[in-house]
Amino acid sequence: MKKTLLAALFSCTVLSAQAAEKGVIYLTFDDGPINASNQLVTELDAAGIRATFFINAFHMFGEGDENESYATTSLQKMFNSGHIIANHSDDHMLHNCTDGIESGAFYCNRVGLWPVKSYRSVSADLTYFDKNIQRVEQEIPGAYLYTNYKMSKLARLPYTNGWRVTTKMKGDGRCATSDTVPPWDPAFSCDAATSTQSSKTAAQIADQLASRGYKLYGWDLDWGPENWGVAFPAETLLDGDALLARVNAVVNTCAPRTMNPLNSRTPDLDCSDGIARNKVVILAHDFLFENGKRGQGATINLPKIKRFVDAAKAEGYRFDTLDNYAPQWQPYVAYKAGDFVSFEDKIYSIIQPHTSQINWNPTATPALWRNEI
Ligand SMILES: [Zn+2]
Repeated sequence: MKKTLLAALFSCTVLSAQAAEKGVIYLTFDDGPINASNQLVTELDAAGIRATFFINAFHMFGEGDENESYATTSLQKMFNSGHIIANHSDDHMLHNCTDGIESGAFYCNRVGLWPVKSYRSVSADLTYFDKNIQRVEQEIPGAYLYTNYKMSKLARLPYTNGWRVTTKMKGDGRCATSDTVPPWDPAFSCDAATSTQSSKTAAQIADQLASRGYKLYGWDLDWGPENWGVAFPAETLLDGDALLARVNAVVNTCAPRTMNPLNSRTPDLDCSDGIARNKVVILAHDFLFENGKRGQGATINLPKIKRFVDAAKAEGYRFDTLDNYAPQWQPYVAYKAGDFVSFEDKIYSIIQPHTSQINWNPTATPALWRNEI
């Protein structure tokens, strides 16, 4: 009797733990690897979660104008710790920093030029995603053999909240970058209906990447400073509790459509197929977690990570990486209408509800699963 009661209590606990899951948070970090990424990975590991890093290889060659003398060591640590490594282009499109001349990121950073028209040529700009892959391989030979290497499967466009996830869930940052002034300039204005030429080019690049099998992810929430223009922007990041309140505010709102500022917005994002339900993608940047020119980011912000993770978990959120935005397909699961799964880096939507069998994977059973491209 006592044993039965205990068993009943135990199964109750398990059921309530499952029922309590409130959603999934995808913490993503852009613009590394830099020196600060090393400590950031230590902090994520201590918090017991894995993140998705959208990287620019040029840091490993000293071209990124950051504290990056051991960027390669940082990237190696990301691989070793199991974080997902994804593609953010080799140089963050800094080769476009001067009008009509590809002067190179190193030059542009040195003279303080920023890419006003960040995207100029579909074919030329696209090559910087390939270059990113080549230069990671150059620094860490055999990197592609890591299971967490997703450089040819997952991408985020620099500056741009663009999405290519499923047949429906697509959208573009139509005012992400300007043709005349940097997008953070107070003089920047843009009409989403007409977009900017730079952002239109970015959308075409997104299409090209998607046609090569990439999934592109933007973000639902920017864990950024209150104001990028202040002397020490790293020192105004939200703390864990405030960030969690923001997560609760945006979940299931298709937040990118209404997000401020204007250049973060994805007005045409279609969240209607249900894959985004209960999911929040958070954008963060490695460089906001270092003590340096942006302020005391390491001292102030690194401890916020564990605080946020603990608070979010206590409230019922789970953390995952973007390769699992649709959960991995598994045998012996009762799949129902509306389900999405990932299998071999592709996303599938269900056609026919069924309980999966070991040899009924989505590529083997096109009558059961539709490849979402
Ligand atoms: Zn970036």
